[in-house]
Amino acid sequence: MKVGVIGAAGRMGATVCGAVSDADDMSLVAGIDVDDDRQALAAAGAEVAVDFTVPSAAVGNALWCAEHSIHCVIGTTGLSADDLAALRDAYPASGPLGCVVAPNFAIGAVLMMHFAALAAPWFETAEIIELHHDNKVDAPSGTAMLTAERMTSASAEWGADPTKVEVVAGARGGVSAGGVHIHSLRLRGLVAHQEVILGTTGQTLTIRHDSMDRASFMPGVLLAVRSVAGRPGLTVGLEHLLGLA
Ligand code: NAP
Repeated sequence: MKVGVIGAAGRMGATVCGAVSDADDMSLVAGIDVDDDRQALAAAGAEVAVDFTVPSAAVGNALWCAEHSIHCVIGTTGLSADDLAALRDAYPASGPLGCVVAPNFAIGAVLMMHFAALAAPWFETAEIIELHHDNKVDAPSGTAMLTAERMTSASAEWGADPTKVEVVAGARGGVSAGGVHIHSLRLRGLVAHQEVILGTTGQTLTIRHDSMDRASFMPGVLLAVRSVAGRPGLTVGLEHLLGLA
């Protein structure tokens, strides 16, 4: 499988380049960055492009890949519902091309989201705390957004926020569409971490996942690269590739 990496000089892109090079069934044929011509992907015969860039670039890159018959795996976070709709149009389920978008390629993080959705109907209150390194440009994280979405799909009944006075603006965090509060911490030394805390009378349940190293994402990225050609259309979330959805 011939693989091209977009954002190859970035923290994640460089790690993906190493993982693809080390995989027996893949070859890294191109690695491009912000000033490079995407044509290098097509010229090198890339069958799959892996994008770890910024939200403002990722969708345009994927649309270009679709036009050039290249399957796409997107790890970039911060994509909007409109972005996903554009990807769905560019990669129709009836077509020959696949696009996998996953806000978190770590198996433990996917299980954390799965467990949070399982727990949701049994608790009336829940909040999400996501913690990332101090260079992350989007907040909340894509993982936190997807976790909140999964939890509110599993349970629509969440207790009302009792806060009447917010002494410091934002103290209660951001509120997801379904009403689950999300708190984003940015600290030097962290990689990617998340806690989901659920509460009901007399007890709480805390589900926590930590990615200590970017290597944690690589098995999921390689699984997506191997699977994407066999999944025409848009797939959102690694859980679909793991049989968890
Ligand atoms: P990063 O180190 O800043 O890397 C991003 C790279 O993309 C940089 O090299 C940047 O180049 C390049 N870039 C920006 N615009 C581009 C364009 N138009 N075309 C090609 N390359 C472009 O960031 P990171 O930590 O690797 O994270 C990248 C993304 O992956 C973020 O959205 C992050 O949230 C996400 N992420 C996802 C997962 C997951 O499991 N899905 C895990 C970790 C991170 P310049 O520096 O020159 O601008």
